Amino acid sequence: MSAEGQRGAAPGVGALYLHVPFCARKCAYCDFASWATPTGDPLMGSYSRALEAQLDEVAGMGLLEGCETAYVGGGTPTLLGADRLGSLVERVARLAAPSELTCEANPDSLTDDVLDAARAAGATRLSVGVQSLDDGELAELGRLHDAACARERVRAAVASGLDVSVDLMCATPGQTDASWASTLAGALSLGVGHVSVYPLQIEEGTALGELWRHEDPAWNDGDVQASRMKQAQAVLEGSGLVRYEVASYAAAGRQCRHNIAYWTGVTYLGLGTGASSMLNLKQYLRLSQACPSLPEPPSSAARVRLTVETTRAEVAADPRIAALSFSTEFLSHREAVAEDLMLAMRMTSGVGPGLLARARETVPAGRLEAAVGEAVATGLAAWSGGRLVPTECGWLLGNELYGLMWDLAADDA
Ligand code: SF4
Repeated sequence: MSAEGQRGAAPGVGALYLHVPFCARKCAYCDFASWATPTGDPLMGSYSRALEAQLDEVAGMGLLEGCETAYVGGGTPTLLGADRLGSLVERVARLAAPSELTCEANPDSLTDDVLDAARAAGATRLSVGVQSLDDGELAELGRLHDAACARERVRAAVASGLDVSVDLMCATPGQTDASWASTLAGALSLGVGHVSVYPLQIEEGTALGELWRHEDPAWNDGDVQASRMKQAQAVLEGSGLVRYEVASYAAAGRQCRHNIAYWTGVTYLGLGTGASSMLNLKQYLRLSQACPSLPEPPSSAARVRLTVETTRAEVAADPRIAALSFSTEFLSHREAVAEDLMLAMRMTSGVGPGLLARARETVPAGRLEAAVGEAVATGLAAWSGGRLVPTECGWLLGNELYGLMWDLAADDA
């Protein structure tokens, strides 16, 4: 179902994302579409019922036919509680029947009941936001759980038989090489088959962004980020996990296929406030039949990117797809190919012969060769078994590599 194999004519999307925009408290670094919400807030119930109604509607349009992966993310889906999360997951499992269905979880709201409900309803994977196994660092990040809670809840998730991943964060306040090593080793000792690692980004509008508005903290320096990511690579690969994407490592057969879908040109539908979709033209036209406010695509459009702009309260008040407002961006064939090349560079497998052939058909002669030649000459990418793959330098200078590929979308100067 990848861009290499061109799944363009499929009636339904390859992947489904549902956004649950509730958190118990806002973390100090977080600029995601999520808001601190008291446990008893009735909005949680009405919003999750609205998502279920939207699932019914898009399934009725045929947009979930052939869907292979689904991800209930956030926010904190586990904050919905066992009944609501179970009901939402059951609806996804029944209507989309994905072979991989992931729920995002935070340790503090991942109770046994929630875990059991998600599993019984059809979840196959759990992605747990651990971030650190150091109590001081967790407090600096504004996380609600401590290390003991994270360890205990991840162990329970692994014991439940779900495929479990943990997210970890580096270059954070108070972190040292030693504490990062201890977090990595501690996470591995919990028996998870998948680990994602991210350097903390200080974003405007967050608590950390406010605190560090006037200076760049040494703990988040680019060199620190690079060295912690390298440290993670050594530890995780040393324990048998294999890096398959810039931020993710997995044991054999335990890669997150939903994650891979995002980087390999698979179409996806996102429901819920702030959720993004990437649709082919046929899928977009199906959706627009139900949502008249969606604009007519230009004749050059081959791909559409949409983001739900409706607020969570508006979604809850009127769940009809017709009531949603979206921002839209139409991409031509050439822009779609350039985007596929750029996204593929996040994967260790890089760009294969199928996508290269498609790019040669679309990008003017010589431009592709020049961009590839520059990527290789500058050490950002290399040839390996007929594929153009990112190098270590390419991982670290990702924006330069992605920029080279994306520039292929623009007309010659
Ligand atoms: S739990 Fe996740 S989504 Fe919620 S505030 Fe923290 S980082 Fe953001």
